[in-house]
Amino acid sequence: MQTKFPVCPIAKKCGGCQYQGIPYPQQLMKKEKEVRALFKGICTTHEIAGMEEPYHYRNKVHAVFDRDRKGNPISGVYKMGTHQVVPVEQCLIEDEKADEIIGTIRGMLKSFKIKTYDEDTGYGLLRHVLVKRGFATNEIMVILVTASPVFPSKNNFIKALRKIHPEITTVVQNINNRGTSAVLGKKEHVLYGKGYIEDVLMGCRFRISASSFYQINPIQTEVLYGKAISLAGLAGRETVIDAYCGIGTIGLIAAKKAGQVIGVELNPDAVRDAIGNARRNEAKNIRFFTADAGEFMVEMAKEGQKADVVFMDPPRSGSDEAFLSSVVQLAPKRIVYISCNPTTQARDVKYLTKHGYCAEGVWPVDMFPMTDEIEAVCLLSSRKPDTKVNR
Ligand code: SAH
Repeated sequence: MQTKFPVCPIAKKCGGCQYQGIPYPQQLMKKEKEVRALFKGICTTHEIAGMEEPYHYRNKVHAVFDRDRKGNPISGVYKMGTHQVVPVEQCLIEDEKADEIIGTIRGMLKSFKIKTYDEDTGYGLLRHVLVKRGFATNEIMVILVTASPVFPSKNNFIKALRKIHPEITTVVQNINNRGTSAVLGKKEHVLYGKGYIEDVLMGCRFRISASSFYQINPIQTEVLYGKAISLAGLAGRETVIDAYCGIGTIGLIAAKKAGQVIGVELNPDAVRDAIGNARRNEAKNIRFFTADAGEFMVEMAKEGQKADVVFMDPPRSGSDEAFLSSVVQLAPKRIVYISCNPTTQARDVKYLTKHGYCAEGVWPVDMFPMTDEIEAVCLLSSRKPDTKVNR
């Protein structure tokens, strides 16, 4: 681990890295302490798993485009709480190759007479650039978000870009003509390559399209998933539920060690990717359903179905009582609860401990160094019927 830590010159204006300037070991301590406080009286908090090299971990980089007062194109991030663009040349947590590609695109705009989009007037073309890189496969996707579908001399533009960066494997144009702060619009055209990239996590191959959710720190994702899978203690015959499964990552990794896996996810695009991923990994013992996880579990419980292990990885708001009470009815031996918000996680874990489960411990994993975001995985196991102690 580095003892000297670099300092970002625009940290204050950008605001993305709340822990900028705090030595990394201290950042880890702060996060561990926060989890410990939240889980006090619930279960033991284990040592946080930090990164060896906590920089340039982000595999997805977003830059918003604008111009400065002289009319020169700039790219970077919105200044905290505003729509003013702070220029970014390099970022300490983003993938360096992605930043280089964004810089190249910015430098090409003038000669190609491509105007950056002006949010106030609605004039101009290029709004955002997103770069996604598969760290394991080295495949790179560039997404050019434009205000209109018309992209003059796009073929020459792609040719020139690929000449400088032959490592780019696909380029997608996404059209966003809305006035909202959402980065991506609904329509897209593949300008070059296959329109998606692939990445490998724990021996499984995943397809990542322009709009699908994928963990942004693949190094720590393997640590997190590795922990989750080992806590599940799969022996090969279990019925496993992967709730809030996204593109099916956890379920597909678990499928190698389980009897059968059921994945449930609300976003139909993510489910489509998950089904493709099952095929790609030749996993025959996994099925995916598009549904609200709570409603789905209620149905399963009504039908009297059982599960041996439940993985759950809800959004920041946590789970709901419909889900949690149904989990209790399905009576899994173990529940592995992954969360990007330990506050709602502690709340939900508390509920489960009041309904027949014992919290065995919580393991924080630092997925987002330099920021104040915390990720943690908690293991719950069912209490034997004869040991009805209230902890
Ligand atoms: N486990 C996945 C995704 C976690 S992100 C991974 O590690 O990659 C949380 C997921 O929950 C998102 O994909 C989101 O679309 C989904 N989600 C949000 N609310 C939901 C609900 N009510 N029911 C089912 N899925 C939901």
